[in-house]
Amino acid sequence: LKGSIQCRVAVRSALDAFGRRRLHFFHHQGTKPLPFIPFHCRALLLSLLLSLALSACGGKKTRIQAPTPAPSTTQTSTRGETPPASTAGKTPDSKRTQPPRDQRAGNLPPAARPRDQLPYPAIPPAARPGGPIFLRVALDVDQAAVAFNAPAETELWDQEKRLGSITGQAEVLIPVMGAVPEKFWVQVAAPDTEDEADSVLSDFRRKGYSGLSRWNERLQRYQIRLGPYQSRSRAEQVRSQTTPDAFIVSESMETSSTASLQSESDQWYGARFQLRPAEGRLLRFKGRSYRGWFEVFVNRKGSLTLVNVVELEDYLRGVVPNELSPYLFPQVEALKAQAIAARTYALRNRGQFGADGFDLFSTIRSQVYGGRESERPLSDEAIQLTQGLIATYQGQPIEALYSATCGGHTEDSSNVFSSREVPYLKGVPCMGEQLAEEGGEGLTIPAELTVDFSLGLVSLSGIDLFAEEIEYSRRISAAEMQSWTRRSAMLAGLSAPALSSTDVEGFFLWLSRTAGASEAEARYTPRDASLALKDFEDLDLLDLRLRPHVAWLLEKGILQAEGKRLIPVLPLRRGYVLQALGRMLQLYQQHFVRQGRITKLADGSVQIAESQNAGSYSFLPSLLLYRRDGRSLSPLSSLRLQGGEPVWFFADDQGLKLLMVENGKGPAAGALAPSATWEYRISRADLSKRINSLLPVGPVRDIEPVSYGVSGRVLKLRVASSRGETVLSGARLRTALGLRDTLFTLERSLNDDGVVERFIFRGRGWGHGVGLCQIGSVGLARQGKNFVEILKSYYSGIEIEPIAVEGK
Ligand SMILES: [Zn+2]
Repeated sequence: LKGSIQCRVAVRSALDAFGRRRLHFFHHQGTKPLPFIPFHCRALLLSLLLSLALSACGGKKTRIQAPTPAPSTTQTSTRGETPPASTAGKTPDSKRTQPPRDQRAGNLPPAARPRDQLPYPAIPPAARPGGPIFLRVALDVDQAAVAFNAPAETELWDQEKRLGSITGQAEVLIPVMGAVPEKFWVQVAAPDTEDEADSVLSDFRRKGYSGLSRWNERLQRYQIRLGPYQSRSRAEQVRSQTTPDAFIVSESMETSSTASLQSESDQWYGARFQLRPAEGRLLRFKGRSYRGWFEVFVNRKGSLTLVNVVELEDYLRGVVPNELSPYLFPQVEALKAQAIAARTYALRNRGQFGADGFDLFSTIRSQVYGGRESERPLSDEAIQLTQGLIATYQGQPIEALYSATCGGHTEDSSNVFSSREVPYLKGVPCMGEQLAEEGGEGLTIPAELTVDFSLGLVSLSGIDLFAEEIEYSRRISAAEMQSWTRRSAMLAGLSAPALSSTDVEGFFLWLSRTAGASEAEARYTPRDASLALKDFEDLDLLDLRLRPHVAWLLEKGILQAEGKRLIPVLPLRRGYVLQALGRMLQLYQQHFVRQGRITKLADGSVQIAESQNAGSYSFLPSLLLYRRDGRSLSPLSSLRLQGGEPVWFFADDQGLKLLMVENGKGPAAGALAPSATWEYRISRADLSKRINSLLPVGPVRDIEPVSYGVSGRVLKLRVASSRGETVLSGARLRTALGLRDTLFTLERSLNDDGVVERFIFRGRGWGHGVGLCQIGSVGLARQGKNFVEILKSYYSGIEIEPIAVEGK
């Protein structure tokens, strides 16, 4: 059932008697064609993430025995290094070191078998490319200074020749940008013969100074100068150590492409420095250590770039665990799929920033690369087992896009990034998220309807809010007024009124007296109430004895005034009455909403224990689901239970009608839980700021989705602003709005003047939703799918192959 449910999100406007428009969202199966967003009510990752996290602690793991450790010839060994400081370091894997790659391939049982003996799809063996493939990964760009730490005996090279060796802290600096670049010399002598000049200079050099001798034509003398020094203070220090007659000379740098490298004992000048550590030693930058070597150079903007030149497979070891945590997701097949996606991405995007002197950024702009400290044994294993394999389409590495969670369906690339069709980046149902849910512990409950909490409470009274004939802006009939107020009163355990549809006074008085006959009068005298209500234009029309009740109802939020008017247009409208009843019921919810704890899950029913007794309740099709997160209450289209959660619920003899869990409570709480479903509120002013920072559209008045992709993601959003209408689309949409994903429904809250005050986005998914879905891949791996099957289910029509030819 849960897989096949297609929900429609029907947007109905409820116009209350004041003419205020409020929008509510109803997910309703099989409604007549109202504006709707088709989307799958499936994913609830919260519990998936938790069950994965739990299985990380001692769950079964697919492991392939690693051969005996031996030093590697093609890469620095991990032996003798500090194990990673994470929990992963506590597993036995951390003791294992890497075997040489040649041996490794021969020790992999599945890979070593001939291809034709394998069941479809064939799992290609790990392959060693023709030679090492190096990547240039930018660790820092646009800096005036780059400081790093070099292990003992790190060789310093310029482009071709060895300059020397350094150890410990070192810094590359360029002259302060924007100022006239200067260097400083200390002139120690000015002899007039070449012999004397040579002799003085070599004297200083023997003492450890660097310097030069130059002929000054005008003075007809040689000038012996020590330096150059980066700063005047350093020059001053040298001057004080030399001769009393020495003085400082400053001069502009010949070119702005010169930087200086200062180690603890030396200084060099140049445009490009290479730092090559000894075998097995690692350079450090900003508290992290990196395999391979560093290159620091003056870039074309005149600032410094620090590049880590690193072998592809070593690079992946610092990438894969950042992109998919082996601690939370110990499914090695999912990690292998991630390794191939990351390898393919790196290869495909190699040279992307060639003009800037590197291939990839070390941030989300490319892939997150954290060097040695990121590495984990299980992700290392996944990388080894897929060494040299990439995903190809028609023989070319694919654009291997991936995102954290797709929310149940991935999206066409052309809908998100450009209008260009990419044949292998087509939106597909995410079987992984679905299977992972079904296969894991616990139970997923779908809801066919979602509605705001207060109206959900109204529906518990037996009022059919979803009946086709209800139009909220229509005037309420006398029968409806009678029936709805009585039903609500009964639900809340209050006295039933006898009201007519035109009796607004009676309605107000009854609402107020639900709290006790004299509650409002005790709180407000007519005089106090008149003062409190003095800004309303129609106060004079309100009977003096009614004013305390209205003031109290406004204070409690049961009534909400519209602009400057207190009294609704008569006769009352359905929407106005239902909303007031809903807010009244919310105030009295403890009278009928019970509290308990889930003690047992079964197919179609749930056992809930209360303080005194326990009962078993079957799910009704009309069951409403909610999550409470602090003060915010979100309706849910599905809810996954593990058992043990504290819940609020409403049930009658038919079964369970409402169930609410609290976010962050119970066993389903996890650090990544919010990625399952999310809610994002932003004021119109803030949204306007965001959109204008990308596109100057002027003050935003309203936004509205205008088209949807195959997965239900919003593709185009119309932005109404003071300068007209603009359409935002694709990836820019997500950035502009600051959303996790574009799989959302939109609600607006209006201020008293009917102007949009705030937008509320409720959604699922995290990321752009194109290509591989990481959570889905974990789900597939849990179902026993291998990495080839996983990759092929997200990238249509691809092959998994060894890297063909090492290009330049
Ligand atoms: Zn997915």
